[in-house]
Amino acid sequence: MSSGVGLAAVLSALPPASLGLVERLRAEARASGKALYLVGGPVRDILLDRPIRDVDLLIVPGIGIADLARKAAPASARVVEYRRFGTARIEMGELELDLAGARKEVYSAPGALPEVSPGSLEEDLMRRDFSINALALEIEPAESASPLELTDPCGGRADLEAGHLRILHPRSFHEDPTRILRAARLAPRLGMKLGRSTRSAMRDALRDGAMGAVSGERLRRELEKVFSDALLGLDPSLALRQLGNWHVLSALEPGLEWPKEAATPVRRLGKLIAEPEWRSNRFRPWVPGVSLWLAPLGPALRRRVVQRFAIRGETAERILGFGAERQRLQARLAKARGRGAVDALLGGIHEESLVALFASSEPLLRRRIVRWAAEDRARRVPLSGDDLVELGLEGPAVGRALARIRAAYLDGAIANREEATALAVEWARRRASRSAKAKR
Ligand code: ATP
Ligand code: MG
Repeated sequence: MSSGVGLAAVLSALPPASLGLVERLRAEARASGKALYLVGGPVRDILLDRPIRDVDLLIVPGIGIADLARKAAPASARVVEYRRFGTARIEMGELELDLAGARKEVYSAPGALPEVSPGSLEEDLMRRDFSINALALEIEPAESASPLELTDPCGGRADLEAGHLRILHPRSFHEDPTRILRAARLAPRLGMKLGRSTRSAMRDALRDGAMGAVSGERLRRELEKVFSDALLGLDPSLALRQLGNWHVLSALEPGLEWPKEAATPVRRLGKLIAEPEWRSNRFRPWVPGVSLWLAPLGPALRRRVVQRFAIRGETAERILGFGAERQRLQARLAKARGRGAVDALLGGIHEESLVALFASSEPLLRRRIVRWAAEDRARRVPLSGDDLVELGLEGPAVGRALARIRAAYLDGAIANREEATALAVEWARRRASRSAKAKR
């Protein structure tokens, strides 16, 4: 059927950085006699006139995907091939573009990853999560003058218009319960409701314990998306509240809930994730997110949840310890006198804990944290450890002196290298006279 959308409109909706690559992929597809489709999320978002997060493309027939990707990608790009799934990802700086061959799939066991083999476009769409994602727009071959062809075997367009999130068959959630987490993300994001049969299929899957079969890694990947959706300006607390209301959280781990106290901090974290000045690769959005979510819960439950999501190592310890660390830091930060004291408190904290601390602090403390992060943390003291050693300091005294000089510098008590040196000379002199006295 006709989509009513032209090629130019589609291209202008794509992230500008992807355009050159999409054009080269179209040319490669044309040269090898294949059809190229925009598929799933981006089609849904174009029809809804919403921002597109990532560009998912489908090729029919679905063979030789990685070759095609390599031919189209510029030399600076990285092409990652996923042989088992017949897909490839092109990474160019911040841009990631997923390229798949049309596939069909069979589930060997509920909750496990499916067996996939080449299939038709319709078969590929039929294995998807919701009707609104089972959509494909043909962008090659395509005539610029006429509307693009839309393939919609499951009534996705009608569901988009009605605001219904609908699975494609009653066992869908049994086969892949992570779709329940996707539903909780998509429903608030798109302002949609679950269709009645979809809601009851979800209840059945939860009642039958389908969640139990899903690995922690897969659950965590879905959880990560709850927080990275904040990059689109979405509030991550909505998806988590949704999961709580649907009794999904307690199915993931008995006793797990969405505590009311977490809503405001997580909403604030979401805003911060979307701010360009915080959007860095210094932190993974889900880590402060999970820290804030779990902090109000009991320690034994927290530990079980972290295990259930296969969160391990130092990250797990940081998440588990966040509640206590926050209490300690907030008390000290409230009492800290001067920018040097704030720096001494915040300087050693992991960025992921820092943003969680920010998101759950009162306005006064938030101002202190922001001022430190934006101004003070990057300031360099005009004196180094080597300078101090030359002045006669040694051992742990060097580190202590550096810390005191840094504090004095940030407090404005000293302003330059001369003043810092004078201070250090004075300390070195006092130290020498103290140790001389001690020897006498
Ligand atoms: P976003 O805009 O957040 O990327 P998306 O719908 O594109 O949303 P992706 O995670 O990028 O989500 O997945 C791409 C497509 O793959 C989806 O549109 C959907 O059709 C399909 N898909 C993803 N996960 C599943 C799943 N668990 N089961 C079936 N289909 C899935
Ligand atoms: Mg996508």
